[in-house]
Amino acid sequence: MRPLLIRLFLSILIFGLASAGRAADPPVKALRFGKLVDGKGKVWTDPIVIVRADRVAEITTDVSKVPAGAEVIDLRRYTAIPGLIDVHTHITYYWDQSSNVRPFDQQSGPRLPAVTVFLAQENARHTLEAGVTTVRDLSANDWDDIAMRDLINRGAMIGPRMFVAGWGLAVADAPPHPGYVRPLGRADNEDEIKRVIREHFVAGVDVIKMFASTGTDKDVTGFQTYTYEEIKTAVELAHKYGLRIAVHSYGPDGARDAVRAGADSVEHATDVDDATIAEMARRGTFYVPTIDHNRYYVDNYVAFGWNQQIVDGLNDYIHRNFETARRAFRAGVKFAMGSDALFTMCGQNTRELGWFVKLGMTPEQALAAATTNAAALLGKDKELGAIAPGYFADVAAVEGDPLADVNVTINNVRWVMKGGDVVVDKTK
Ligand SMILES: [Zn+2]
Repeated sequence: MRPLLIRLFLSILIFGLASAGRAADPPVKALRFGKLVDGKGKVWTDPIVIVRADRVAEITTDVSKVPAGAEVIDLRRYTAIPGLIDVHTHITYYWDQSSNVRPFDQQSGPRLPAVTVFLAQENARHTLEAGVTTVRDLSANDWDDIAMRDLINRGAMIGPRMFVAGWGLAVADAPPHPGYVRPLGRADNEDEIKRVIREHFVAGVDVIKMFASTGTDKDVTGFQTYTYEEIKTAVELAHKYGLRIAVHSYGPDGARDAVRAGADSVEHATDVDDATIAEMARRGTFYVPTIDHNRYYVDNYVAFGWNQQIVDGLNDYIHRNFETARRAFRAGVKFAMGSDALFTMCGQNTRELGWFVKLGMTPEQALAAATTNAAALLGKDKELGAIAPGYFADVAAVEGDPLADVNVTINNVRWVMKGGDVVVDKTK
């Protein structure tokens, strides 16, 4: 072969290999920040986060390590924190404000599940805007949460990564009468508990939610609804299926039995006795106090159709909730951030962190409740809750120092990446 032809042949070969290589390589992004709080205890100055496809490949301060052809995103005005995790949401609860129907009545009304899921995209977008890239959604109607999770995972909907609970388990709350259809998720004895958990498992939930006391929205009573034995049955079966279990209890009794039965987290819970708090610290049971959600209800009581008496009850609950959380924090109980966000509270998810600082946490400890602790509660602490090689590229850029002032995390999110995709950009 003549030299010219050889060169031509070689260049075609090399070009072919190079373009084949390019096609196989995932897209690379290089994110430059002023500072970075990595969730592993280190604060970086002038870091560059190399992102390949949906994961963090490397963090470096060496500009020469930026791969050729990488898309460089300059966020040097900002500090990077791990994408936040809210471990208690109801993101499918959508409030159509053009309707005269009260928000809670809209959920159980004639609106079709597909319409609800479609409209709930707005909640998902607001959640991302708060820097929350992952949620644990703790009960929804009609498997709306599973539909939404799957639509988000396949890229058909933009929203946070969702770990979902389906309907959740609850005791009967209405007498049977002609025409009454018992909602899914109702379980009134140990056999029914097993059946409902199996139904949830085959439906594809990620976590089990059990309502072990009365108390929800305007009702702040906390009467225990499931016995210790019943909770224990649920915990054992959930764990056998490889699922974590979150137990809702507004009052102390359900919380006491949930902790002793081995629940992974206790939601809400006020007036918890010292022995139970000590047991939570000993076992590593997560406490998700959701203090801020009653603040949201108080702010919106007129729209919900509630009166002053209800507002007084909500405020009293906030006070007891806060005091219980303060005692639990002092006793060394692990906290995870859960907002209980639904309706237009989606987007206010991180206000819970303000309560955490008020009860004694440093901004860093509060941030951990929404990152590393929350990831541990999900069983995902090797891929969520930190910015580190191998982790999902979930990053929020905030303006200011999040370790000096918790309000920076709450109010100053300017840019968000989830799984390598930019999902919020308010930098311009
Ligand atoms: Zn809830």
